[in-house]
Parts: sequence; structure tokens; C-alpha cells
Amino acid sequence: MPRTVLPDARVSPRFAGIATFGRYPRLDDVAPENRPVDWALFGVPFDGGVTFRPGARFGPRAIREASQYLKRFHVPFGVDICERFSLADAGDAPVFPYDLTATLDQVADFATSLADDATRLLAVGGDHSIAYANIRAAYLRRGEPAGGLALVHVDSHLDTTDQVWGCKWGHASPFRRAIEEGLVNPKRMISIGIKGPLNAAADLDFAAQHGVTLVMAEEIAGCGPSGPGLARIKAFAAGLRSDDANQGGECYISFDIDAVDPAFAPGTGTPAPGGLTSAEAFAVLRSLRGIRLAGADVVEVLPDRDPSGITTMLASQVLFEIVSLDAAGR
Ligand code: MN
Ligand code: MN
Repeated sequence: MPRTVLPDARVSPRFAGIATFGRYPRLDDVAPENRPVDWALFGVPFDGGVTFRPGARFGPRAIREASQYLKRFHVPFGVDICERFSLADAGDAPVFPYDLTATLDQVADFATSLADDATRLLAVGGDHSIAYANIRAAYLRRGEPAGGLALVHVDSHLDTTDQVWGCKWGHASPFRRAIEEGLVNPKRMISIGIKGPLNAAADLDFAAQHGVTLVMAEEIAGCGPSGPGLARIKAFAAGLRSDDANQGGECYISFDIDAVDPAFAPGTGTPAPGGLTSAEAFAVLRSLRGIRLAGADVVEVLPDRDPSGITTMLASQVLFEIVSLDAAGR
């Protein structure tokens, strides 16, 4: 049942009008009788949680611009996403550039406040600290699932550091906090694309001690479609689907663009050479086919470090892959 009015680019050019994510309607323009939309995308223009290069605050605007070229039919899945569900752009969450914890509270409140207007939320960062806020909102909105949400985390980094510079809330820590607070079930969490070098071998301890599944970049990069990493991801997804306690395999996806090699995604704050190609990143997401989503985010895009726009283009395509994954599971 088509429910989202998406302008036909053969009638209204992609380069005309005000840029929303994917050219989907603004949530404010969606009639009350068509709410809640199935997915709302919103920006979080905040980078007060970074440990290295700033600039992710400019991500949402640049990704909106790059996403004008998105199309609606996913070829490998054979799915027209607009026929499966409705999508809208909810604008940007309020942020306080000087105050990280106040921003996280505001973003979580903003996301929670959309309960009557959108069933699921996709946050576009911003740095990775903002994932905590959307995860918290997703946990509440999905009815506080027992044991916490399942989580698929794609990243070069674990992001389970306890503190940096005495602060517990930066972009190196969102999953540590989410696990500590019971928002995420670490035994239903997989971190994909992880690579070194690390600050210390002990950086791996928190994930290992809590039962997080790790798929290292080396298990995917250059391994082809039958490589060990993709097989382990498919097995994880199958486990989620068969887990009766997990609401039919619902999980949250948090995608840090730095999982993709800087050759393909140079516009990011903590680049890590030796990562996935764009095609491998898509293969990772498509390996999750059959899961249903509780929410998602795409983070760590720095347009200022992205001279030819390839990173924002990739990020916009990742948004499409994520919602297509959900469309294919319906
Ligand atoms: Mn990262
Ligand atoms: Mn990260």
C-alpha cells in the first residue's frame, strides 16, 4: 500500500526544491490521518563528543543534499520501499553545541516525543555519542524489551570506552552506557568491522566480558561473498529471528561511516585504514535480511573532509540500505 508521496523525479527534478532526506515529505506536511509514518528520519547536528576531528555537526545538511539522488527500488531485494511503508523527514533534533549531556537528553526527548507521529526513527549524526540518545528512545518506544534491544553496530571502533578526558558521554562510549543501563542486550549485540590499532589490548575486555559478538574487519575485507565474516553475520541475524524473547528479531542498527575504508569514505573524524569497501558495507547490511528494525542511526560523516562528496553519497545510500532491509523483512 503506497502511503508516502515521493515526487517523481521524471516530473519534478531532483535538483529542485528544498532538500529533505531522500526527497521524502517533511513530517510537518504529513496529514494527521497518515500518521504515524512508519519511519521518520531526523538530523542531529552535533559533534561535541569527538576525540579527534570535529565537523560531524555538518553531516545532516550534507547528507540531505546528497540523498536527493536516492531512488526507491532496491534491486537485490526486489522491493520498492515506498510500497512497503511511509517515510518522512522530521527535521533536526534540538542540540546544545556547548553541552553534551544536555544535548543527549534533548535528542532522546525529541525522539520520544515523536511517538504519535512516527513508528521508527533513523537518526543522522552527528558524532557517535548521539547514538545513545536514539537507542534510549528506541528502547522506550519499543516497550522496554526484556534484557534490552538487540543491536547491530558497524564501526571500526568498539565505542565501549569507559571515559575519555574524565567524561563518560563521548563518541567512544555510547555502547558502554547503553549496556550498563540495560538499553542494549550485549548477548544480542554484534560489532562489525572492528580493527586496530587499539590503545591497549584491554580495550577489547568490556565487549568480551559482556558477550558481544565481534566480527573483525579482516573477516570481511577482501574475503568476498563467501568470507567468514558475512557467514557469521548471517548466523547472528538468524539467531535474532529465532529468538522468541526478541519480538520477532527486532534490532537497532548503528552505522559509523568509518567502518568503510577512508579510500571510500574519507569524510570522517577518526579514519581507520584497512576497512570495508562500499560494496562490502552493503553486503554486510544485506546479510541481515529478514531482521526487523527497532530504529537506526548513521553517524560520523564530516563533509569538510569529503572533498568530492563520496562520503555523504555513501551515507545516503546506507540510509537507503537500512530502510530497504526493514522493507524486505515485512
Ligand atoms: Mn568509528
Ligand atoms: Mn563509532
